[in-house]
Amino acid sequence: MPKIIRKPLSKIPPKSKLAPAKRVKKTARKSVEKSVEKSIKASKPWTPAEVYEAFSRFRKANPEPRGELEHLNPYTLLVAVVLSAQATDAGVNKATRELFAVADTPQKTLALGEERVRDYIKSIGLYRNKARNVIALSEKLIADFNSEVPRTRAELESLPGAGRKTANVVLNMAFGEHTMAVDTHVFRVGNRTGLAPGKTPLEVELGLERVIPDEFMLHAHHWLILHGRYTCLARKPRCEVCLINDLCRWPEKTV
Ligand code: SF4
Repeated sequence: MPKIIRKPLSKIPPKSKLAPAKRVKKTARKSVEKSVEKSIKASKPWTPAEVYEAFSRFRKANPEPRGELEHLNPYTLLVAVVLSAQATDAGVNKATRELFAVADTPQKTLALGEERVRDYIKSIGLYRNKARNVIALSEKLIADFNSEVPRTRAELESLPGAGRKTANVVLNMAFGEHTMAVDTHVFRVGNRTGLAPGKTPLEVELGLERVIPDEFMLHAHHWLILHGRYTCLARKPRCEVCLINDLCRWPEKTV
C-alpha cells in the first residue's frame, strides 16, 4: 500500500495566529472585492439622462473642483503625483511644501541632489525609491524634453515613476485634457454606483470616459475623487447626505 505523506499541521498557521494587521487587511480586501463583484452583477446600466443629472448635481454643488495636491507649476504637479503613490495628498503636501520652496524646476532638483531630496520626503512611504525617481525624471526632462513637462500620454509614461494614472492627472490638471485618472476613490465610486463597473482601474477609466458627457469631463475626475473621499467613504459611506443617492445602484446603500 502506498504511504500517505501528510504535511505536518504545525507548518500551516491557524487563522487565529496570523498577525492581526494581515488578517484585517485580507478581510477588508475580500469584502471590497465581494462588494465590487456584487455591484458589477447587480447594477442596471445608468441611462444617459441619469448620468447627466448626477454630474449636473456635482457641478451645481462645486462648479470649480480643485485637486488637493499642492503644486506651483506642471513640473511640481508631476513630482507631487509621483510622490503620491500609496500616500495621502495631505502627507505629500506636508513634505513638498518645503521641497518645492527650494526646488520647483528639474535643474534645481538636480542641484539639490538625491540625498537632500530624500531628506525632504522621508515622511512619505517608499521615499528612497521615490527620491531616485524624482532625480531620474528631472534628468530625463532636461535631456529629452527641454526641461518642460511633455504633453502626451506616451511621453509622460516614459518618465521614471510615472504610470497611466500620473499621466492622466497631469494631462487633466496641467493641460486641461479630458482624461480620467482612476485612484482608489474613483475606482470605488465607479463600481459602487454602477456608473462604470470594472475589475481593474483601466476598465473603470474607460467605462467612465464612455458614459460621462464631454461637457463634464474636465472636472469629472475631481468630482468623483472628492465624492469618494468625503461622502462615499470606503467603510461607512454617508449615503444619507449623498447628492446622488437616488441614482446610485449600490445594493448596500443605506438610504
Ligand atoms: S448612495 Fe451611498 S454608496 Fe451610493 S454613491 Fe452615495 S454614498 Fe456612495
